[in-house]
Amino acid sequence: MDKRIIFATGNEHKMEEIRMILDDIGIPVYSMKEAGIDIDIVEDGTTFEENAMIKAKAISELLPHDVILADDSGLEIDYLDKAPGIYSARYAGVDTSYDIKNQMLLDQLEHVPDEQRTARFVCAIAAVFPDGTAETVRGTIEGIIGHEIIGDNGFGYDPIFYVPEYGCTTAQMEPEKKNELSHRGNALRAMREIMKKKYTRRDTP
Ligand code: IMP
Repeated sequence: MDKRIIFATGNEHKMEEIRMILDDIGIPVYSMKEAGIDIDIVEDGTTFEENAMIKAKAISELLPHDVILADDSGLEIDYLDKAPGIYSARYAGVDTSYDIKNQMLLDQLEHVPDEQRTARFVCAIAAVFPDGTAETVRGTIEGIIGHEIIGDNGFGYDPIFYVPEYGCTTAQMEPEKKNELSHRGNALRAMREIMKKKYTRRDTP
C-alpha cells in the first residue's frame, strides 16, 4: 500500500498550511475526513503534547498502516497565567465568536502595559508511525497582545496577536508569511525533518 500521512484535523485553514510545508516529503497528506474518519476524541490531557498524542494514537488505532499526525495548539498569555492555553478553542465556549473571545481578552488586559502583554502561540505535533514508534515536537511564535482587533487574514486569536518585529498582527500577514513564522509552521518543519530522516526518498530505482 502506498504510504499516506493522515493529519487529524477537520480544519481546512490548517490543512492548507500543512500541505504547503510537508509537500517536499513526497508523501500525500490527507485530512481525517478525506481518510473517511469521523470520530470525536476527548482531549483530556494537561499539555499540548499530551493532547496531540491522544489524538494521534486514537486515529492510529483505526488506521495502523498510515503515518498519523495530530496537533494541539493555543494561545498563552503570560499576564493571565498562560490562559487560555490548552483551552483556547473552548475559551468562553466553543460556539462563542472570536470577535467576542478576542474582545474579552482585550478587556482583561485593559490598562496592562505592553511589556506585560507578552504572549505566544504554541503548537505541539504528535506523530505515530506504522512501526509503532511515536514522536512529539513543539513550535512557538512570540508576540504581544495588541490593544484592538486588527486584520482579516488567519483565524482565531490572530487579530489580537501582534508581532513587534513585523509591526502587525498575524491576521494582517499574508498566509505565506505567517507560515514562515508561525508556531504551527515551526512545529511542522521540525516534524518534516524527523520524517525525512525516517523516510529518506530513494530517487534511483
Ligand atoms: P486546536 O485546533 O484544538 O489545536 O485549538 C487551537 C485553538 O487555538 C484554535 O481554535 C484557536 O483558538 C487557537 N489558535 C491556534 N493556532 C492559532 C493561530 O494560528 N491563530 C489564531 N488562533 C490560533
